Amino acid sequence: MSRLLSHEPFIAHSLLVKQFQQLFSASSELGATPAGGLHRLAASYEDGLARDHLKAWMQDQQLDVRIDSVGNLFGLATFNPGAPYILCGSHLDSQPTAGRFDGAYGVIAGAVAVAALAEEFRQQRITPQFNLGVVNWTNEEGARYQPSLIGSSVFTGSLAAVDALAIEDGDGIALGSALESIGYQGESAVTLPLAAYVEIHVEQGTDLTENHQAIGVVRNTWAALKLTLCFEGYQAHTGPTPMIERQDALLAAAHAITFARELADEFPRRLHSSVGRMEVYPNSPNVVPSRVTAYVEFRSQEQDLLTKVLNRFDARIAQIAQQTNTAYQVLSRQLRNSIVMDNRLAELAHKVCEELGLPSADSTTVAGHDAVNISRVAPSLLLFVPSRDGIAHNEAEFTTDQDLHNGLYTLSSLLRCASLGRGLTGKANTDDRP
Ligand SMILES: [Zn+2]
Repeated sequence: MSRLLSHEPFIAHSLLVKQFQQLFSASSELGATPAGGLHRLAASYEDGLARDHLKAWMQDQQLDVRIDSVGNLFGLATFNPGAPYILCGSHLDSQPTAGRFDGAYGVIAGAVAVAALAEEFRQQRITPQFNLGVVNWTNEEGARYQPSLIGSSVFTGSLAAVDALAIEDGDGIALGSALESIGYQGESAVTLPLAAYVEIHVEQGTDLTENHQAIGVVRNTWAALKLTLCFEGYQAHTGPTPMIERQDALLAAAHAITFARELADEFPRRLHSSVGRMEVYPNSPNVVPSRVTAYVEFRSQEQDLLTKVLNRFDARIAQIAQQTNTAYQVLSRQLRNSIVMDNRLAELAHKVCEELGLPSADSTTVAGHDAVNISRVAPSLLLFVPSRDGIAHNEAEFTTDQDLHNGLYTLSSLLRCASLGRGLTGKANTDDRP
């Protein structure tokens, strides 16, 4: 079989690495925490700084910078007007007091790879079959604004821009005004015909390290079910109110939380659950809470199991409400289906890794990523590089330089092949897409 990659890469690995290191260290400073992590909530001042830095760098590299109405920031290299794009990217926003690598790695590796390839094609007077682009998606994390994956959802059309812009954070600041205040509310949608979407991300698990692999090629995703559950009780004094008369919304939520955990314990390794956020009203030590909103999540690779679990959870919360003399409402229910990623791109990724001499393995993602969203509208690939101890959404998140560089090299080699139309043989598995 012929090789996909030439023996002498036009862009030296060392130059790619140097550019990546400079851009990544500069970006890691914007929103840095004293413990070496990152606190860069979507559309915050720090997010604005990180976007400005990337935007200026992309302009320097002669990429065509575009910003859509929900602040998705694109850097495009158009060689062949009218041809579809191979887009890569991830997100610059972070969870509160989180790590430096989650999301930022994929955006910066993508920007460096696209800029280098654009330069190569220009200098060699090559017109590739597909155009290239990099994107920073708005509010991937869902920390400041819910739901998560807002930018890519608007791009795919599953969320209307007007609805996304109206979503408010905990302080009542709408996404639209937050984006406007940092200068990232573009005027209109950026519509790009997509040939493929590629995202590289830290693994947030330990499979790659345990199996001595450099690159994980995600084949499928876990389904996720997210509920916003609200218990309503009666506001009362915590001292004199007789226990029998209390209608404690927080007590009801506490029972619901422990039940969510019990369900996950019943299906080890098959079901994950959590309640990561609660809003308690009036949240005073001396007042029996009258209203509590809890954000509940269940994740599994088996959609049937999620349905079964949801039925049991529904039945149990009705019971809890009765026992605690409260009322309840499910304010929102969001199901993200499990998805099979594109087979051709996954095969290409393995071939590229083999030629680069990097061990690669198939992988699964439990966490949601923009690539999972985009896979609903275009063939998509999600690649992982190892994460130390699988630590994620924490300042201690870490990936070694070597692993970051392996991923960067894989990504740029893969984008090169794909844009030249090499290695994409066989039929795309569009039938697997919901
Ligand atoms: Zn991420």
